[in-house]
Amino acid sequence: MRTFEIIQYPHPMLRRKALPVTRFDQRLSSVARRMIATMYRNKGVGLAGPQVNLSERILVFDVTEERDQPLVMVNPEVLRSEGSRLSEEGCLSIPDVRVSVPRAETVIVKAQDATGGFFEIEAAGLKAAVLQHEIDHLNGVLIVDYLPEGVTLNMARERPSRLAVR
Ligand SMILES: [Zn+2]
Repeated sequence: MRTFEIIQYPHPMLRRKALPVTRFDQRLSSVARRMIATMYRNKGVGLAGPQVNLSERILVFDVTEERDQPLVMVNPEVLRSEGSRLSEEGCLSIPDVRVSVPRAETVIVKAQDATGGFFEIEAAGLKAAVLQHEIDHLNGVLIVDYLPEGVTLNMARERPSRLAVR
């Protein structure tokens, strides 16, 4: 399957608030399948529409070790979040940077599948963090936005504690 190219920071698409998906057609199913293939190919745990240059509220993720349980969420919406944890995160669009991001411990997210059907999932820990990370992408928010005040991306790159190859 043809995969997408993942766009890199500071591409302006990464800052745009993605548009709601209104057409649940063949094209959307094909986009979802290609996004899943792109995520696996790049060894990511999640991928959002803007990262493949689509201003569409769609994300895919899979946090399983077997890499065989991909989930597609269209127009996702966090209904409830509880608790908090610090999550060490990287991003396929910002290579070689890791940021400690405050996330909710558990979330309940409502979304549509690729055919438009509604569903809800409850997620905790890593899965919850990945979901929040990808939903951030749909709103133009990136992990670098969580750097401590006064720390810029360039400075972060010079700090070995924040560097890790993903
Ligand atoms: Zn990301």
